[in-house]
Amino acid sequence: MKVVVIGGGLAGSEAALQIAEHSIDVILYEMRPGKLTEAHRTGNFAELVCSNSLGSIELTDARGLLKEEGLKLGSILLQIAYKNRVPAGKALAVDRVKFSEEITNIILNHPKIHVERAEVTKIDFENDIVVIASGPLTSDALLNELQKLFGENLFFYDAISPVVTRESLDLTKMFFGGRYNQSPDYLNIPLTYEEYTRFHKELIEAKTHTPHDFDKVFFESCLPIEEIARRGFDALRFGPLTPKGFSDNYFAVVQLRREDVHGNLFELVGFQTSLTYPEQKRVFGLLPGLENAEFVRYGSIHKNAYFKANRILLKTLQTRKYPNIFLAGQITGSEGYSEAILTGLVAGLNVVRLFNGKELLEIGEETMIGSLIRFLVENDLNNPQPMRANFGLIPKKYFEIPKSKRKEIFINDSLNAIEKLRRSL
Ligand code: FAD
Repeated sequence: MKVVVIGGGLAGSEAALQIAEHSIDVILYEMRPGKLTEAHRTGNFAELVCSNSLGSIELTDARGLLKEEGLKLGSILLQIAYKNRVPAGKALAVDRVKFSEEITNIILNHPKIHVERAEVTKIDFENDIVVIASGPLTSDALLNELQKLFGENLFFYDAISPVVTRESLDLTKMFFGGRYNQSPDYLNIPLTYEEYTRFHKELIEAKTHTPHDFDKVFFESCLPIEEIARRGFDALRFGPLTPKGFSDNYFAVVQLRREDVHGNLFELVGFQTSLTYPEQKRVFGLLPGLENAEFVRYGSIHKNAYFKANRILLKTLQTRKYPNIFLAGQITGSEGYSEAILTGLVAGLNVVRLFNGKELLEIGEETMIGSLIRFLVENDLNNPQPMRANFGLIPKKYFEIPKSKRKEIFINDSLNAIEKLRRSL
């Protein structure tokens, strides 16, 4: 029986290293540098395709807690990230070159890892254990193959808008209601001339993450908001920020649409964008009421392949149809660097257990990683979109606790649960 990991990105590198460190031979397939994705530029493992920040390290931030859980469970990539840290306040930012070079050296010199620099186009590892970690930019040939294996459950987005939590919004600066006869599920932010002018200026000057031409092929079917803004001062007011359809006379109106059944999450309508994540936080944070917005998903305008995990995946990260095939990374429907590393860690640990004939781990939902996996696997959405770790995903029982105490109690529970799990490993 062979153990195979497909994709040497964040999730695949973590999974392969976990497996190898448990003295199991693993074959790691990576198509780069022979074939690059639209965003990767090198042949290195665990290349960060955009920002060099893995997000907050504060426990009161969902991704900070996620990282703490990962470190306690022995994430190798997170340890290397800390070693290559550069100053960035309360965030874990890394020297991206040193980070991925160190991981590459460890992988290439690991006696238990055999690297195959080749594009995988077929999954015919029937008697083997396989981790698919080929990421949001999985090659087309492999996507076709995965579609055959898992049917319509493979999703593909070109453009997505950011999502923010309702509790991070200043609702005094917006109102529920809608244009014409829209349902009151919309939140509306009216803008004055001055607010619009400032937003427009910052938007067209903001940094985008991909100078690549590949972005442009999507432009005519679905324009990024900054591209609409560049077409003229009023273009946004004649597009997604139209003030029409309201009884009051506004200069422009931004709309947020309810994203989940509980009304905890709202999407910024028409805000698909190529802005870097920090720039989205800064520029969209200029909008009234969004000053302290917590972004649980950033907008994007690039190919983004992932599965409807709620149809095909178990909490162990095994696929329901083929228990010898695991998913890890963004292809699980999770989003973000830290999320990719953590799902790689869980998949890696479970591969080791399957290989050794042990019962597989389902991480409890009183942890951030357990809550994220539970959401991915159990949500009842027809069109789930990529999800980051956030406190909106934690079990319902915590919402009965007053907000001022809720996070503290969850963080405490999470650290205890992870410590217990660590000891049992
Ligand atoms: P990846 O890190 O992309 O790894 C997948 C690997 O699989 C790649 O090395 C690829 O070459 C390889 N591969 C693909 N197909 C095959 C094949 N057929 N055979 C062999 N190998 C194959 N998240 C953030 O938190 N911050 C950001 O700033 C950020 N910016 C992003 C910008 C872009 C353009 C994109 C696409 C995503 C961004 N993300 C960001 C989201 C996400 O966190 C990253 O994409 C992350 O790298 C996902 O990790 P992964 O391991 O799932 O995939």
